[in-house]
Amino acid sequence: MLKIYNTLSRKLEEFRPIKKGKVGMYTCGPTVYDYDHLGHAWCYFNSDVLRRVLEYQGNEVKQVLNITDVGHLTSDGDTGEDKLEKAAKAGGKTAREIADYFTEIYFINRKKMNFLEPAVICRATDYIPEMIELVQTLIDKSYGYEISDGIYFDTSKFPHYGLLSGNTLDKLKEGARVEINPEKKNHTDFALWKFSPAGDSRQMEWEAFGRQGFPGWHIECSAMSMKHLGKTFDIHTGGEDNIFPHHECEIAQSESASGVKFVNYWFHTRFLMVEGEKMSKSKKNFYRLQDLEEKGFLAMDLRYLFLMAHYRSQLNFTWAGIEGAKIARAKLMNFVAGIKETGKVNKGFKNKFLELLNDDLAMPQVMALVWEVIKSDLSDKDKKATLLDFDRVLGLDLAKAEEEEIPEEIKAIAEKRWLAKSAKDFAQADELRQEIEDAGYIMEDGKEGYKLRKI
Ligand SMILES: [Zn+2]
Repeated sequence: MLKIYNTLSRKLEEFRPIKKGKVGMYTCGPTVYDYDHLGHAWCYFNSDVLRRVLEYQGNEVKQVLNITDVGHLTSDGDTGEDKLEKAAKAGGKTAREIADYFTEIYFINRKKMNFLEPAVICRATDYIPEMIELVQTLIDKSYGYEISDGIYFDTSKFPHYGLLSGNTLDKLKEGARVEINPEKKNHTDFALWKFSPAGDSRQMEWEAFGRQGFPGWHIECSAMSMKHLGKTFDIHTGGEDNIFPHHECEIAQSESASGVKFVNYWFHTRFLMVEGEKMSKSKKNFYRLQDLEEKGFLAMDLRYLFLMAHYRSQLNFTWAGIEGAKIARAKLMNFVAGIKETGKVNKGFKNKFLELLNDDLAMPQVMALVWEVIKSDLSDKDKKATLLDFDRVLGLDLAKAEEEEIPEEIKAIAEKRWLAKSAKDFAQADELRQEIEDAGYIMEDGKEGYKLRKI
């Protein structure tokens, strides 16, 4: 039986889905106003592993991922500018263009990291009517009240406020994170809906509650998750920075509207550190996947590095660490590529594998087990079968081991050369062939295609 850590109860719990064999899982997605960095990748990686483990154990997982393209303000206390509108102004683009650009990059990176495609991907701006309806329900049930800059949630009416984060009403002092708004009934009250400031027109605004406005940051996740997964669903994932205020507020507004429990298991990934330090703008250590690629690492090297850490421990990203991961992954890929036949999955190793997964996703130990399989006295073909079976969770694409040795840029040049040759542009074809050879690869032409290999 799978055990995972539930932030809500603060303990390890056996995972039991509401409907046997079916799991509803909501993953808090990115706010698409900037490039996603390694911290994001680490968080989505852990959601991906959790989903893969559940699927490996025979569950059908419906994963819903949102894209926040409106309403996330620069301050957690419902003040400041909308992150999208701010980025749009700074970049001389529309908020829609900014959102579309960073959403595209986010999905390219997901693909490179081999994250499984969510069943539903929802953009906040496509669910405005659902959000308005939810806010209206909260007003009707007198949880929502109106002040001059928007509609707020009255946290004093929700007794469980603080259960997830430990931030109870008494404990939470008005301070840096929650800015003072004298009109709010309680300092912890948060915006369900904001009115567009008078005299300042926004690019994204909607007519509701008698004037122009836009959603508060938290309401989208409640509206979209309940629409696709029902009022109560199994798992909600996110980074530890989402616990408060985002997830605490999601629970308050969802449960107040529905009258039932919102989510059974809250799964949070701890922060990623860079060279032992917190990521920060001043340290310029918000590394992106592209920064790694420029230094010769692939997304799958990062995936390997992530696999060696546990979701509840702070992962310390270092350049030495990613170098080690790259070497280890190459060894693993070469080992699998060197075995032509596939045999049978070894039961003993599979049981050990399951035991480790069930133990709160003990991935570092799982990676040690991978090397135990390689060093074991199993036949090569059984080793390969066992590793390919594990790979359904690891997601390292071991089955593609042979192709993997050829870098993407070489494949792209080869493709270009093949087209040039087909078009009888032999001068360009020769030039490109030379380029490939200079990079240490050789292209062997056949009648209907070509093969690439290392020299
Ligand atoms: Zn969310």
